[in-house]
Amino acid sequence: MLEKVLIANRGEIALRILRACNELGIRTVAVHSTADRELKHVRLADEAVCIGPALSAQSYLDVPSIISAAELTNADAIHPGYGFLSENADFAEQVEKSGFSFIGPTADTIRLMGDKVSAKQQMKLTGVPTVPGSEGALPDDPDEVLRIAREIGFPVIVKAAAGGGGRGMRVVHNEEVLLSSIQVTQSEAQAAFGSPVVYMEKFLQRPRHVEIQVLADGQGNAIHLGDRDCSLQRRHQKVIEEAPAPGIDPALRDEIGDACIRACLDMGYRGAGTFEFLFEDNAFYFIEMNTRVQVEHPVTEMISGIDIVREQLMIAGGQPLSIKQEDVTLTGHSIECRINAEDPRTFMPSPGTIKTFHAPGGHGVRVDSHVYSGYTVPPHYDSLIGKVITYADTREGALAKMRQALDELVVEGIRTNAALHRELVTDTSFMAGGVSIHYLESKLEHER
Ligand code: ADP
Repeated sequence: MLEKVLIANRGEIALRILRACNELGIRTVAVHSTADRELKHVRLADEAVCIGPALSAQSYLDVPSIISAAELTNADAIHPGYGFLSENADFAEQVEKSGFSFIGPTADTIRLMGDKVSAKQQMKLTGVPTVPGSEGALPDDPDEVLRIAREIGFPVIVKAAAGGGGRGMRVVHNEEVLLSSIQVTQSEAQAAFGSPVVYMEKFLQRPRHVEIQVLADGQGNAIHLGDRDCSLQRRHQKVIEEAPAPGIDPALRDEIGDACIRACLDMGYRGAGTFEFLFEDNAFYFIEMNTRVQVEHPVTEMISGIDIVREQLMIAGGQPLSIKQEDVTLTGHSIECRINAEDPRTFMPSPGTIKTFHAPGGHGVRVDSHVYSGYTVPPHYDSLIGKVITYADTREGALAKMRQALDELVVEGIRTNAALHRELVTDTSFMAGGVSIHYLESKLEHER
């Protein structure tokens, strides 16, 4: 079992990891920037080390500082959380080379899944369905490119192999602009990700975003914990997530879950992970794998009763998975609203001091948040200040609890997107379930 874990992150996820460590009797080290001395988990951790100035590049992204802090405090493992260095293969490699456990998969797996072309090829090997498209990277020959596009059928989407964060993609509607669009995407990809490699796939018109949570121990055991629907997005950022994804046939869910398990076993996957799919006309199409814990993991915890962060820690401690697939029972429904410090109309970040904070509560209500009355949200980082999660027997019940919880939530002193959430949980289309990834943006466009 692990004895001391360094938490290489901040905000709500750092607190989430600290809580899981405490429950398991694992000691904790918080690392933080000079702007983050007042963070809740920094105060609660057994030890805290300031690793640099506010700028992420000089603190939360500074590999030597983080590894020095692990050496200084004699930690035996590093949990990267999400964002920051969590999907950086070089970091995972440095961590392991320096003699610490990286709480996540091996550097090789992160590399394999970090390149979208190799990730897609790996999925095809094990029968995970992918979006129809080019066999790997696009060739240089313009005639060949045109032939591939015709075979897929327009519209197509050109995507950077090294892309991420919803960048490095371009939709192409006809042959006339195909080659010029590819060129632009290639140069953008080179500038943003240091690699000009692009590939092409069919552009799905009205898909939903549905993902599968997996856990694997790297010792021959893997399970899936069902699906989540994260279709309510703005600029590729998820706003509300839920589990299970509404209206999906349980037999189809199991079939896809099994394919994800096979993929995990085939690549020797270790840790928690998520297979992201676009879902259209009752079919799943793999788009990418996230090799880390996700913001929306709590909705799966609520319906499965499994503590995903605890499992991450157990796996990193070398324990074989204690849960078998037949022991996984998914019951009820869970919804998560991401509360951001931002203007609900313009979406501009709204950092500053929170004068009053009252979290909602009650049966089936969970709040994962690091903020408190008097806490100052710094301007340097992501605007997520907390997540309100509800659970009930039915989707309607979880929505009713969410309406109540959002009414109880008080955040004064800064602006938040709570008003947007209040509107969304009474929106008739969202309430019906199964809206596409374009729904939120088109709703916002029409209303404003
Ligand atoms: P990133 O790593 O940048 O998040 P993804 O491959 O996950 O990139 O794609 C991000 C988003 O782009 C998807 O959630 C979806 O909205 C859109 N997208 C990607 N591929 C397609 C596709 N083939 N058809 C339609 N939309 C797509």
